[in-house]
Amino acid sequence: MQLTHKIALYPTPEQANYFARACGTARKVWNWALNEWNRQYAAGQRPSAMALKKQFNAIKYNLFPWLKDIHRDAHAQPFAHLGKAWSRFFADVKANKRAHAPRFKKKGRCPDSFYVANDKFSVTAKNVRLPKIGDVSMAEALRFDGNLLSATVSRTANRWFIAIQVEVSDAEFYRTRKASGITGVDLGIKFAATLSTGEAIEAPKPLKAALRRLRVRGRRLSRKIEAAKAAAGFAPKSRLPKDVKLSVSNNHRKSTATLARLHARIARVRADFTHKLTTRLCRENQAVVIEDLHVKGMLANKRLARALSDIGFGMFRTQIEYKAKRFGTRLVIANRWYPSSRLCSVCHWKYETLRLNDREWTCPQCGTHHDRDHNAALNLERLATATALPVASPSGNGGAAAGMVPVAAGKVTPVRYECGQQDTSGQEKNRAHLRALS
Ligand SMILES: [Zn+2]
Repeated sequence: MQLTHKIALYPTPEQANYFARACGTARKVWNWALNEWNRQYAAGQRPSAMALKKQFNAIKYNLFPWLKDIHRDAHAQPFAHLGKAWSRFFADVKANKRAHAPRFKKKGRCPDSFYVANDKFSVTAKNVRLPKIGDVSMAEALRFDGNLLSATVSRTANRWFIAIQVEVSDAEFYRTRKASGITGVDLGIKFAATLSTGEAIEAPKPLKAALRRLRVRGRRLSRKIEAAKAAAGFAPKSRLPKDVKLSVSNNHRKSTATLARLHARIARVRADFTHKLTTRLCRENQAVVIEDLHVKGMLANKRLARALSDIGFGMFRTQIEYKAKRFGTRLVIANRWYPSSRLCSVCHWKYETLRLNDREWTCPQCGTHHDRDHNAALNLERLATATALPVASPSGNGGAAAGMVPVAAGKVTPVRYECGQQDTSGQEKNRAHLRALS
């Protein structure tokens, strides 16, 4: 089992300077390789990552004399990455999925990072020893014990991080749950998560809170860009020709950095919330049921997009999937068409005409007064406990499933698929966890 720990670094100015140069090297080499790949492909050849690397190694010191100062891992890895990117592209094309061809990296527009192979670095409690620059102090000790696999140094705004990949034992990978509940989770905008226990959890909305500051800082930056344009003799607000580089003043640089720091802070607040929520859900439950939200489709709705991405549903989904594996929690994902909001969680009557802004409703059949989100969470929870599942109606309102939806009658369409541990070995893991708890 592999785990990755990302640790903040405190490099000296010289070390930070080396990091920046190594990132630049990785980017330059990637661009060289991609350009060469495209050229060979256009000429009817069959380029490969290995052949390109060989070709590069023969000429690299003539091409980029400064390469001698940078450790070779930083300029060897881009070839492997490029090879992988192309295989992914061709696999996607073959599978009829939307495929993305690798693109050229542009300074300041792409994430800065470079790679270090496992035999080239070592860690102590406080430092990581890297080739060419020696010990760099870390903000915390490496959390995992095991064989070091690789490391990637990267930059976010003005901070440097190292992500260390470790091969850990099963004992370290699997974590003990604190409780073995079953919880349905209804995701929403007012409350990020409503649990079937009745608890409603509000998310911090860092983007909403920072919008004003973002606007102010964005404006300050654009004033500097406009000033540089005017100094270079371009008309205000005009689009620059492609190969023109404006001179960058110190204040421009500072302004860019401040804006980047603000964006990084927003991302951190968001990630902190989803991490804590997903860990808690997996730690306290043997089964968690969530909806299969169509996040991409919802982001297409401009009015929802900002609020949605501010809560970080995409992140929530990825995090809960890998954490469910670690805690041996069964993750049940309800079909997109499962009418979790429209079913009465008490008598299973289906309210066909429920609208998006009906926050509360009363069931005409059993008279129960429902809070929309809590009721949905209860219905989701049922998917993990009921042996037979209600029929899903893909047609939305109306259709065959109108009115009373039997819990177990007639033909039953399963409306879930599971991810994480669903085979027998997973169930054994579940049992092992339960034993550990009792
Ligand atoms: Zn009812």
